[in-house]
Amino acid sequence: MSDVTEPVEEAEAAVLLDRPMVSIKGLHKSFGDLEVLRGIDVDVRPGEVVCVIGPSGSGKSTLLRCVNLLEQPTAGEIRVAGDLLTHRDADLDRARRHIGMVFQQFNLFPHLSVLDNVTIAQRRVLKLGRAEAEETARGLLASVGVGDKAGEYPARLSGGQQQRVAIARALAMKPKLMLFDEPTSALDPELVGDVLNVMRDLARTGMTMMVVTHEMAFAREVADRVIFMDGGVIVEEGTPGQVIGDPRHERTRAFLRRVL
Ligand code: ADP
Ligand code: MG
Repeated sequence: MSDVTEPVEEAEAAVLLDRPMVSIKGLHKSFGDLEVLRGIDVDVRPGEVVCVIGPSGSGKSTLLRCVNLLEQPTAGEIRVAGDLLTHRDADLDRARRHIGMVFQQFNLFPHLSVLDNVTIAQRRVLKLGRAEAEETARGLLASVGVGDKAGEYPARLSGGQQQRVAIARALAMKPKLMLFDEPTSALDPELVGDVLNVMRDLARTGMTMMVVTHEMAFAREVADRVIFMDGGVIVEEGTPGQVIGDPRHERTRAFLRRVL
């Protein structure tokens, strides 16, 4: 690297580090007459883990689904990794490639083996060859603790194992942002811990994450920031210690009394 180019690259790197990974401004979403998101503003920094908590029906899933444009916002702006997703000319396929999503229901392809579940998008979307895609997939499956299940079909796995495959599948696309929508809510209690451990490990690698969860112990330990939503607005946000440990708003306290 020549001396001439170095300062410019440093300046560019600084700009990149400064820029939020996710920037949501004035987000509104209505379904017919029902206004579900009523003005949401959130920035998520690169490497930050943000847990979103709140009562059922408060708009948490809709918020995540707007971030990768599974739902079209009624108003507002969403940027992910610098791409303005809400621009009418946005290349959504390209933008979504940066975003991994894991749902409550694991949504694996039932007719594909575990290995093929993790390789299919690499091959079809990233156009990788079989050998390269399988190498990545086997590494990811091992890292989430299901390396021995590559040849199985999803139905033969426990819910916890399926969810870990779903995480591996999302990671295979090398996302810059991972969205988790109550990833452990459908699991038997004894299977929750393994999935949370995988998410904790992923957070430690520096992945930027938005996690809707009712697992308050996880949020306390792993989140850099907790957002409490109710009625389609952010009621309060702050460190886990602030929001879960010492909430300012009565609505937050009432919610926490029910879930803790
Ligand atoms: P949460 O994830 O916090 O439980 P949701 O974002 O799933 O909340 O839902 C918020 C509100 O929006 C609920 O009243 C729900 O019924 C409504 N809603 C969500 N998706 C749709 C949809 N596709 N069509 C109509 N109403 C919807
Ligand atoms: Mg939800």
